[in-house]
Amino acid sequence: MGPPGAGKGTQAGRLARAHFAAHMATGDILREALATGTPLGQEARRYLDSGTLVPDRVVLGLVEERMRDGVAQQGFVLDGFPRTVPQAEGLDAMLDRLGAPLDGVLVLAVPEEVVVGRLGGRRTCPDCGSVYPAQRRPPALEDDRCDRCQAALTVRSDDRPETIRRRLEVYREETRPVVAHYELRGLAHTVDGVGEVDEVASRLDAAIGRLGMTGPEGARR
Ligand code: AMP
Repeated sequence: MGPPGAGKGTQAGRLARAHFAAHMATGDILREALATGTPLGQEARRYLDSGTLVPDRVVLGLVEERMRDGVAQQGFVLDGFPRTVPQAEGLDAMLDRLGAPLDGVLVLAVPEEVVVGRLGGRRTCPDCGSVYPAQRRPPALEDDRCDRCQAALTVRSDDRPETIRRRLEVYREETRPVVAHYELRGLAHTVDGVGEVDEVASRLDAAIGRLGMTGPEGARR
């Protein structure tokens, strides 16, 4: 968890690869549905464009669908979900039914002025979700293409200044209480998210080590 621009997508992708777990990012799933024009995408468009949250019912439905596909048995890293208290309660019920409890909730702490600077002008890969901050250009031969999959990079429509402000407000009002929900249960671990990707990654690995998950086997339940 963490505010927009905290580095959730980058770090969750890395963690999932390192632990052979599924990376389930609700924002990526919604953007993909929008790009391919499915009914889910059509329903989600106005929320994504305005930086507000897609209704809980819709998001819970799509997470449950993927959980049923066997993701819960394989181990998973949730990214950008849950974002509201009802979503967290829905997830608790879903995981109880599946007998797959959460190992922990990692919270990336990044001050608002830092995330505003990071989000303005960042480019993302529409295919694999890799993120390229404004100050870091991909070293690929052909500029403006993703290093990993060569797709043309784009600027996310919700990375405009007014939408960034709205997304931060939504985080403060709707998602911060979810952190409290997990703090009360002793599951939340806050990690400093300011610094280079590798530095933050080491802090996350240390936090995961303290959860008793020191390797891929530890992450697989
Ligand atoms: P993200 O890629 O996580 O920054 O999400 C981008 C946008 O997708 C958000 O601003 C919301 O409109 C929508 N979204 C992603 N995850 C959720 C969620 N768990 N609940 C509601 N809306 C979401």
